[in-house]
Amino acid sequence: MNNPYEIEEREYKHWATVVSEQAIQLFGNNQVVATGWAPSGYYHIGNFKEAVTCRAIYNELKNLGAKTRFILNIDDVDPFDKVPSFFKKDYGKGLHKYIGFPINQVPDPLGCHNSYAEHFIANALSIMESFDVTPENLSTAELYKKGEYDKYAKLFLEKREQVYQLTEQITGSRMEEFMLIQCPKCGNLAAPKMTGFSIEDEKIFVDIECRKEKKGCGEKSSIQLGETTWKLKWRLDWASRQDFLGVTVESSGKDHGVAGGSIDTSLAIHKDIFQKEKLPLLIQHGFLTFGGKKLSGSSGSGMPVTEFPKILDPTVFLYKIYRQNLRTDFDFNVSIDVPKVAAEFDQAEKLYFSKETIEKDKASKKIIKAYELALIDKPTSKPVIRIDYGHLSTIMQVCLFDQEVTLQRLYETNYIPRKLTDYEYDLFKKRFERAKYWLENYADDRIRFKILDVPDCSQVQKSTTEIILSLSKAIENLPEDIHGDDITQFLYEKAKANEIKPKDFFKVLYLIILGKTFGPRAGTLIEAIGKERVIAMMKKALSCF
Ligand SMILES: [Zn+2]
Ligand SMILES: [Zn+2]
Repeated sequence: MNNPYEIEEREYKHWATVVSEQAIQLFGNNQVVATGWAPSGYYHIGNFKEAVTCRAIYNELKNLGAKTRFILNIDDVDPFDKVPSFFKKDYGKGLHKYIGFPINQVPDPLGCHNSYAEHFIANALSIMESFDVTPENLSTAELYKKGEYDKYAKLFLEKREQVYQLTEQITGSRMEEFMLIQCPKCGNLAAPKMTGFSIEDEKIFVDIECRKEKKGCGEKSSIQLGETTWKLKWRLDWASRQDFLGVTVESSGKDHGVAGGSIDTSLAIHKDIFQKEKLPLLIQHGFLTFGGKKLSGSSGSGMPVTEFPKILDPTVFLYKIYRQNLRTDFDFNVSIDVPKVAAEFDQAEKLYFSKETIEKDKASKKIIKAYELALIDKPTSKPVIRIDYGHLSTIMQVCLFDQEVTLQRLYETNYIPRKLTDYEYDLFKKRFERAKYWLENYADDRIRFKILDVPDCSQVQKSTTEIILSLSKAIENLPEDIHGDDITQFLYEKAKANEIKPKDFFKVLYLIILGKTFGPRAGTLIEAIGKERVIAMMKKALSCF
């Protein structure tokens, strides 16, 4: 099989299409796309990236006519390994005694759900839903209770020598333990070690020792497997689950794909232990980071995933992710990048509606595919007016965050060339709210500003009357019907013509209007405030000298 990442590059095909076509070639028209997550903390960006990656493949498989299931495996049997920092202060104390317990048997420290695991599940599912990720949810605890894993436990124990050899070959170290078994005496799932076993009539009996060095009680027990909670070790669990669910495609972070990693192990188990000829397509996706950080769910630091829909339309955010190559890492700087990300989406939408459909080159086709996959609602029948996020952020600050005044200003400056439809008005309102939230909570100081009523002379005096007069004259001479960046360009040329550094020209504008040395694009700012008001401010500034 050809490497999907290379095909994506070589043929300018969207990765969702490449992967789906390969999956169909391998498994035909019945497909199962899977993703997994352990609710041991808040849903984080890594989980999110995986889920939305699988969403794109799931949708594309359906587009290509395959009958497809989309499964989310919720690993609610994960052992509780530490009290997260966000619970430490108030609620953490009561949790320490549950270290090592399966997370579905640890109480919810806030008391609002049946267990620690459930506390995080509700939150994660609602985030996924807002991004149109709506898989069937399968609980690991339920799957074990139903006995889905029983035959695998037996198989791994029977073929243990082969499993030892195989895992050692791949990972370089011997896999000593195959499963976690909960101690019947103290409830710890992580501490017990299996010291012996026997298989009688399909039943498995185990001897365990609850290791003190692993924070267990030190007791020895002999039980039938299943009397207490148990689970296979992650790599064995993963391959088994893929097998009984018939998973055809699953994506995981690149860290799983390193040589000797869990993807290699899982594939080897499918091939050598389960003796399958067709192996599931286990692909890898790149990391999404925020300001260089991979936000962790249990550390609770940085921006939680729940914030995403508050700053960007989920469709826009999905587009940003789908526009990247599958294995490419990318960093998202929330204080700076948000307007740019929105603008890229708006651009893609224009391309989608552009007339030269036949002429569209391969690169454009990839953009259009990313756009189509990102859409949550059906595409509109014709292009709609969307107000540029960055422009809107500037105008609303000039208009003191008044939504109707902002809209009026956009009409007056011809930025909105005709009356908005109800649908477009709704788009405007939603983008307004998001941009406002972003400005108030995340935007960089260079983007946030406040228009002064009167110039601050201590700031203005950093410049000279000569520059102020020259800029004022240039603004007076702005041609009619000039907008945005064309204004900036016009001023740039005037500065040069007057032998003034353009940088100093723009600086004095910011000093007078905003009382600082930087600000949004000069053209946008002047247009938003209005030429007359800017000139009036300039005049007032001259009295500072
Ligand atoms: Zn709760
Ligand atoms: Zn114990």
